[in-house]
Amino acid sequence: MTNRATTNDLAPAPRSSDREQLATELLERLKYRIGKDPKVAKPHDWLTAAILVARDRVTDKWMDSTRRTYSTGAKRVYYLSLEFLIGRLMRDAMTNIGILDEMRHALTSLGVDLDVIAELEPDAALGNGGLGRLAACFMESMATVDVPAYGYGIRYVHGLFRQQMADGWQVELPETWLAHGNPWEFERRESSYEIGFGGAVETINIGEDKQRFVWKPAERVIATAYDTPAVGWRAKRVNTLRLWAANPIDPILLDAFNAGDHIGALRESNKAESLTRVLYPADATPAGQELRLRQEFFFCSASLQDILRRHLQQYPDFTSLPDAVAIQLNDTHPAVSVAELVRLLTDVHGLDFDIAWDIARRTFSYTNHTLLPEALESWPVPLFERLLPRHMQIVYAVNARILLEARKDHGLDDQRVRNISLIEESGERRVRMGNLAFVGSHSINGVSALHTELMKETVFADLHKLYPDRINNKTNGITPRRWLMQCNPGLFELIRESIGDAFVDDAEALPALDAFADNRDFQERFAAIKRENKNRLSNLVGSRMGVRIDPAAMFDIQIKRIHEYKRQLLNIIEAVALYDQIRSHPELDWVPRVKLFAGKAAPSYHNAKLIIKLANDVAKVINNDPAVRGLLKVVFVPNYNVSLAEIMVPAADLSEQISTAGMEASGTGNMKFALNGALTIGTLDGANVEMRDHVGEENIVIFGMTAEEVAKVRAEGHNPRAIIEQSRELSQALQAIASGVFSPDDRNRFAGLVDGIYNHDWFMVAADFDAYAKAQREVDAIWTDKTSWYSKTIRNTARMGWFSSDRTIRQYAKDIWRA
Ligand SMILES: *Cc1c(COP(=O)(O)O)cnc(C)c1O
Repeated sequence: MTNRATTNDLAPAPRSSDREQLATELLERLKYRIGKDPKVAKPHDWLTAAILVARDRVTDKWMDSTRRTYSTGAKRVYYLSLEFLIGRLMRDAMTNIGILDEMRHALTSLGVDLDVIAELEPDAALGNGGLGRLAACFMESMATVDVPAYGYGIRYVHGLFRQQMADGWQVELPETWLAHGNPWEFERRESSYEIGFGGAVETINIGEDKQRFVWKPAERVIATAYDTPAVGWRAKRVNTLRLWAANPIDPILLDAFNAGDHIGALRESNKAESLTRVLYPADATPAGQELRLRQEFFFCSASLQDILRRHLQQYPDFTSLPDAVAIQLNDTHPAVSVAELVRLLTDVHGLDFDIAWDIARRTFSYTNHTLLPEALESWPVPLFERLLPRHMQIVYAVNARILLEARKDHGLDDQRVRNISLIEESGERRVRMGNLAFVGSHSINGVSALHTELMKETVFADLHKLYPDRINNKTNGITPRRWLMQCNPGLFELIRESIGDAFVDDAEALPALDAFADNRDFQERFAAIKRENKNRLSNLVGSRMGVRIDPAAMFDIQIKRIHEYKRQLLNIIEAVALYDQIRSHPELDWVPRVKLFAGKAAPSYHNAKLIIKLANDVAKVINNDPAVRGLLKVVFVPNYNVSLAEIMVPAADLSEQISTAGMEASGTGNMKFALNGALTIGTLDGANVEMRDHVGEENIVIFGMTAEEVAKVRAEGHNPRAIIEQSRELSQALQAIASGVFSPDDRNRFAGLVDGIYNHDWFMVAADFDAYAKAQREVDAIWTDKTSWYSKTIRNTARMGWFSSDRTIRQYAKDIWRA
């Protein structure tokens, strides 16, 4: 194990945290909290003890932070997200409170290796991918830049599935992060709320022309809070991540039980608990739709009741809500909050509808994460009405106002009125959650400059014309604590020795490193650290998969969810073409490469699962062909998650960010790699565009169609078959795949995938292939000139500071939250 970050001297903790004190506390926790004698304690017991010792120090800071928020009356930010892809917390918390080194020594003195027990901590994988990881980076950055914030989400018992490979196919297994308990969280029995579903709405007349509505739900469950502290850098502030679990109102139906129906007696209990049992995979099947809507309403209602209760502890009424509170909706998953807040303010707290609507709109803001039509949420009206009858009324009432205003004040025609309606009228009637989030918010932001512009032109074109001041951009970021300091301690220390400490607190001080980019001695040290990180990954691949990869080869890495728009297929086809070239031209000097992939496919996404199988089938043939002479290897590393990313990112030479232009909203994987000194090969998509602006176009390899060109070709149609026939490399590679060269056991396995490229090529794989292959040979040329390679990759590290999520959060705080 390598020696991890030595950041102890950067952040003194308040109470004494020398190794003797820590060792004493470790033994105390082990004995009195876990009930174990050190002689018989298992590594898991030591892990729990270490977390509890760290948690106590975090808790001191947490209470200070809460007290400070109350006494200053600072505005509170609430970040509502159905996903938080956190990963492990122990190293992060210990780094941020500055006790990592002393804790390591304390554990060593007790015969325990910190790195060994750290590996036992399960990833909190309460998210699918980038959206959930962003929420986790934001929690850390909000605490770091001292914004009083609460994250609200769901405490899924099973996070994102564990991925295994069976003969190259993805197999999904349940993930059980809570199997050994969760020492980080505090259960808050006193913070619980009733959440209703179904039933009917009663109308009560209260004086002339005035009515009051009372929702009488048919079903009710209890939401119970679990709090996890979110520690900022140097523990300046500790915020709260509050996750809700569902419990039954009647844990057991005693009459049924006594009548001998022992299973039926637990019906209510099982039903309630199934609500928060599993995280939804990115795509939902129709059967799961209702449960998904229930999850969304459940966590929104609990969070809003909690927010309103807290507000009334400090203020006499809700007129002050928009000044005291900002609620950020992370995508449309929490969009039902808009209707729920109006319901709580009117039906429960007696405000007039107009006032409630005005308060809601000034309190909410919404982040859009995708333009993919299939990912824009909408619910069938009959389902929405049956589950949330009062919210359906509110949606209609809001819609009536918005549409009247659009027609009367803005003179919109019928077609444009239909476009902005909260109800989809063509075909099955559906509630459009994106439009609801838009009209219920004072700010709607995209996550990269390009994505924000496309949002104005596509999904929200008509709403944008109506409300031109609402759409704004906040380019995503990543926390440099997890994604540099903790995952790449060697590079972190080298930077610190070279440019001093300023960048530790402010990533935008990193450009000072630019001065070292051409320095031979620095380049060598930079290269040695990369090599050490590659050795670590080689060992992991060797021990986990039994595949030997050479750390001297170029590590070319594409890790992210498997999706056609992310174009892992383009990368695999290029590998096949390269394989062909290496065999046909043994006389040429090929750059040795290892193409590494990792990522999960949504369980019902057929093509994505087939792409995983293709990667594995291609790997099997290439890796075992002596004619390749070790010049090319293909490896698919199973079970991509945050912890695997923390090992793969620092080991990358080349970062693959090759989505079809216009389809990746931002990406954050792209930022992690560049910050850790990889060269990017990518399209002008998402945040790649801004990365090029920051690192300089000579330090990034850009290829392929622009978003505008893709849109034009899609509108006018193109002829992929003709494109393929003009490219010998491409047609040979596609024919090899389609004819079963890599799948002799089932020659037709990939015929459908290849047909898709021939017939419509929606993702522009054929259209971009030649440009991509050419860009890859440019990468080879740069690699061959090591001085040039390191001068570029060092400049990437130096110039990525702007992509810190601290910068993103400061922008949200200033422009959106006014916190
Ligand atoms: C950063 C990250 C992502 C997002 O990656 P993209 O390349 O931006 O899609 C997804 N999953 C994990 C585990 C991550 O760490």
